[in-house]
Amino acid sequence: MAENNPDRAKGLMIVVSAPSGTGKTTICRNVLNLLPGLSFSVSHTTRKARRGEQDGRDYHFIEEDEFRRLADAGEFAEWAENYGHLYGTSRRVIDDMREQGHDILLDVDPQGAKNLKTIFPDGVFVFILPPTIGILRERLARRGSEDAGMLRRRLNRAVEEITEARWYDYVIINDTIKESTGALKAICTAEKHRYRFSQNKIDDLVRKRETEMEKAKKVAKGQSDRVTE
Ligand code: ADP
Ligand code: 5GP
Repeated sequence: MAENNPDRAKGLMIVVSAPSGTGKTTICRNVLNLLPGLSFSVSHTTRKARRGEQDGRDYHFIEEDEFRRLADAGEFAEWAENYGHLYGTSRRVIDDMREQGHDILLDVDPQGAKNLKTIFPDGVFVFILPPTIGILRERLARRGSEDAGMLRRRLNRAVEEITEARWYDYVIINDTIKESTGALKAICTAEKHRYRFSQNKIDDLVRKRETEMEKAKKVAKGQSDRVTE
């Protein structure tokens, strides 16, 4: 774990949203594998785990009474109901990780993302779009995790969610997994090169050079004093 250093810039916060079935989980997992310095902020949910999902890695899967207890205790920076299940982002995890300089990636719906933007205005907001609604339907069906009713609900909701893409910082159209992974990785890398992440380095370099020049001036003055004596 990184030690606390008040001078260090807070970690990068990347918030990713997309209509269900677009490919967000696939792309985020790829980028997390490619960028070891980036950690996933694991949300809490009352939904049951899908095949292949792991408790503590994909979500903290909890019961509704436990979720409500955490929400009442103010543990969530934001929380929302999606498709009859509750989802929430732990405030403490975000604050602790960012204070320690760690970069984090969050996967939340647009209403959660909007709330996070108010609390963390320095966050970077990325929306992933399906190429077409027809392709989205195919992808959701192929995932095979929803029955016909839930699939319809998720598709109807997709169209509403897409209108929210307008206020995001970046939009990626998920044609191919390879290109979209490359785009999200490029966004993370570019955002990491913002001035604020190098501010301390610049200050440090300038300070060191000034100290060297001071020293050189003193040495030169000492030499000229000796010559005049
Ligand atoms: P989300 O997290 O947005 O709900 P997933 O990552 O679970 O979506 O992807 C839904 C399904 O679509 C998965 O079966 C996944 O393999 C597939 N998929 C994702 N991106 C693409 C793509 N660019 N082309 C084809 N299939 C994709
Ligand atoms: P899924 O059940 O497909 O994993 O997720 C359903 C929706 O819940 C997705 O839009 C996902 O981004 C969103 N979601 C996941 N975690 C959170 C969270 O912590 N807060 C909010 N508001 N939405 C979340």
